[in-house]
Amino acid sequence: MLQGRFTSALSGALIVVTLTSCSPSGASDRGPARSGTAGASGIGDADFPTDGNGGYDVGHYTLALGYDPASRRLAGTTTIDATATENLSSFNLDLRGFTVDAVTVGGRSAPFSRSGDEMTVTADLRKGVPFQAVVTYQGEPQPVRDSSNLGSYGFIPTKDGSFVTAEPNGAKTWFPSNDHPADKATYDFRLTVPDGVTAIANGELQGRPASSGGKTTFVWRETHPMASYLATMTTGNFLVKTGTSEAGTPVYAAVDPRYQGQLTRLYELSGRITDYWSTIFGPYPFKSTGGVIDDYASGYALENQTKPIYGGFEPDEGIISHELAHQWFGDSVSISRWKDLWLNEGFATYAEWLWSEHQGQGTVQQIFDRHYRNAEDPIWNYPPGVAQKNDLFNNSVYTRGAMALHALRTQVGDQTFFTIIRRWAADHQYGNATTEQFTALAEQLSGQKLGELFGQWLFDKGRPTTLG
Ligand SMILES: [Zn+2]
Repeated sequence: MLQGRFTSALSGALIVVTLTSCSPSGASDRGPARSGTAGASGIGDADFPTDGNGGYDVGHYTLALGYDPASRRLAGTTTIDATATENLSSFNLDLRGFTVDAVTVGGRSAPFSRSGDEMTVTADLRKGVPFQAVVTYQGEPQPVRDSSNLGSYGFIPTKDGSFVTAEPNGAKTWFPSNDHPADKATYDFRLTVPDGVTAIANGELQGRPASSGGKTTFVWRETHPMASYLATMTTGNFLVKTGTSEAGTPVYAAVDPRYQGQLTRLYELSGRITDYWSTIFGPYPFKSTGGVIDDYASGYALENQTKPIYGGFEPDEGIISHELAHQWFGDSVSISRWKDLWLNEGFATYAEWLWSEHQGQGTVQQIFDRHYRNAEDPIWNYPPGVAQKNDLFNNSVYTRGAMALHALRTQVGDQTFFTIIRRWAADHQYGNATTEQFTALAEQLSGQKLGELFGQWLFDKGRPTTLG
C-alpha cells in the first residue's frame, strides 16, 4: 500500500490480531467424539478482535462470481476448503452485506446466522479433519468507508466495473472468508462479466475467456498462498499487454483506456523491476508479475498479489518499485498481526530508496540523511515497530521503518545485511512472520546484539541516536 504521495496522510483505524486459538478444554483428548465449541469470532489479533476467525484454517477458496457493472450486483458462490483446528460446533466467516441464500457444509445444508460482519455457521467439525463450506449469495457490495483511515476500500463499484483493494480487512466486502493475513490460502476465480468487460484477478489466466449468452467468464488461478486482502476482482474496460520479462517471468499489464499511453511503460517497468528485485531479494516468488492502472481515483496503490493496482494516477518508478518489492515483503512473507506492518511497508519503502540509487538518483544514504536531519518530523513520536490500530498507515511505519533497516545495514555491513534480507524472504516464503523473528534472524546472522538498535528505531519514542 502506498498513498501518502497523492492524498493527505492517512490516519486510520484498522484491525489486527494475535494468534490465540482457544482450545476446547482438552475435549479432544478424552476419547469418543464430544461436541465441540463455538469457533472464535476473531483469529486472535488483539488490535482487530473480530478480523478473521478461530478454529479452522483455510487451504483454498474457489470464487465463482458474476458481476454486472450496470446493476452493481454481485452474485455467485464461494467454496471454502478448510481444516478444523479444534472440535467445533460452529464456525464464523467474515462477510459484509449481501443476501445469503444458502450455506452447505460437507454437501449438507447448514444453519447460519448473521450479526454485523460476522456469519456463524452451525456444523459439527472434528479437529484435524478437512471440510468444505459453500456459500451462495448475492447483492450490491458495500465497501468499507473509514474516513479516519483509508477512505474507501474493499469491492468498490466504478462506472465501468469494479476496483478491488482490500487492505486491511475488505475481503469480506466481496466474499465470505477468514479475513486476516494470518490465514493464507490459494485461490481459483471464475469471474463472469458482460461481454466486452475484462475481469482481472490474481495469478494466471487459465485458457481463453469463454463467451456465452452475452457474458464472458475469466478463469484465474493463484497457486501460491495469498492473504485475503491481496485478492482482487478488478473489472471494467481495459487494454491489456502480455509477454515475458527479460528474465522469463510472464507479465500481465492492464490499463483503463484513459491511461492508454501508460500501457507499454507499465508493462516494461513491471517486468524490469521484478527482474531487478530478483537479483537483490532472491528469486521472484510467484508465477507472473504485472500491474493494473484503473481510472478510479483511490489515491493509493496496493500490492495485490502478482498484480499491483494503481488507482487513478500514472505511477512513477518509485511507486512501482515499492509495490513490486511487496511481492516478496508482504505478499510472499506476510505478517501475522497488523502491528508488525513495518515488515511490509518499511521494506517496500527501503526498496524505493534502493531503486532510486540504482537509477543514479538520490542514494539510500542521502535519503536517510535527509529524513534524519528533520528533527521535527512527527515520525519521531511514532515508533514504527508497533503500528497503531487507528493509524496503521502512518508515515513512520513507512519511512522510519525503512530507516530502521538502513541503521541495521550500517551496523552489520552490506554483505550481512543483504544476506539477512534474502534469508528473510527465503525462510518465510509463502508463510507468515513476526518482528521478533526478524530481529532474531538479524542477530543470528550478524553475530551481534542488536537490541539497542532495534529498540531505538522500532520501539522507542524520540529520534534515535544509534545510527548503526
Ligand atoms: Zn506499501
